[in-house]
Amino acid sequence: VPGRIFEIAASPMPGGGAVAVLHDITRVEQVERIQRDFVANVSHELRTPLTSITGYVETLLDHEASLSTQAREFLTTILKNANRMNRLTEDLLVMARVESSEQELHPVLVQADILIRDAVQAMSGLVQDAEAVLEIGEATTVSVLADTDAIVQVLSNLIENGIKYGQTRSGSKGRVIVSAREVSEPVDSVEFRVRDFGQGIASEHLSRIFERFYRVDKARSRESGGTGLGLAIAHRIVQAHGGTIRAESTLNHGSTFIFTLPK
Ligand code: ADP
Repeated sequence: VPGRIFEIAASPMPGGGAVAVLHDITRVEQVERIQRDFVANVSHELRTPLTSITGYVETLLDHEASLSTQAREFLTTILKNANRMNRLTEDLLVMARVESSEQELHPVLVQADILIRDAVQAMSGLVQDAEAVLEIGEATTVSVLADTDAIVQVLSNLIENGIKYGQTRSGSKGRVIVSAREVSEPVDSVEFRVRDFGQGIASEHLSRIFERFYRVDKARSRESGGTGLGLAIAHRIVQAHGGTIRAESTLNHGSTFIFTLPK
């Protein structure tokens, strides 16, 4: 049917034959597209005024000597919050992009270890600032079918979380290990793992952390600069590659995020 979108489910019937059910989801798709476009447009429109706010506040803070203690304090708070909004609008734009079926991935054959090295490189500044340790474990040189930028983004999001939530109760800095190996389940796949030794995630939250804006501890996530969108973005990107993503965790002992990509 021209212009209409259908979802098809088919199942075999006992005794031969099959039943196919076609569900017209044109309207649902239209509403979702309108919502996505709206979010993307709003985020885009917010960028310019935010850049202006950040610019002016930074300029004022550059002239520290002429500021009262209170003015400096208030400006620092304004800057912190403007930066938060900047991150949020950026993440909302990325989210709208990865959720739209129009987003084009450009998968190429790329070695798993190269993806890991690129991500580790991209995170080196954050690792230094947090005085964390980022290690590469076993890293296969087998190639996967991946959009390099998108998968480096997934790995970076997971590494960033590992560092952010990786501090132990005793206050020791985060340690994160990234690795990749060939697996046969799902068939012909490479499995990437990002492991930390931090606070961990209670089992009742594990199934929900990939939802948009779901956070175990809202206050802590905000404080560490989180937007609540990193894992939702990672989930979408991996799904669009035909892979799977999940997390294993033990409270107070750490978490491992595991995703697969086709070879
Ligand atoms: P945020 O910006 O809040 O980090 P994410 O989507 O990246 O958003 O993660 C969602 C939530 O999942 C976080 O707020 C945190 O509660 C939990 N989480 C994610 N990664 C980890 C981790 N490595 N260790 C413990 N908790 C984590």
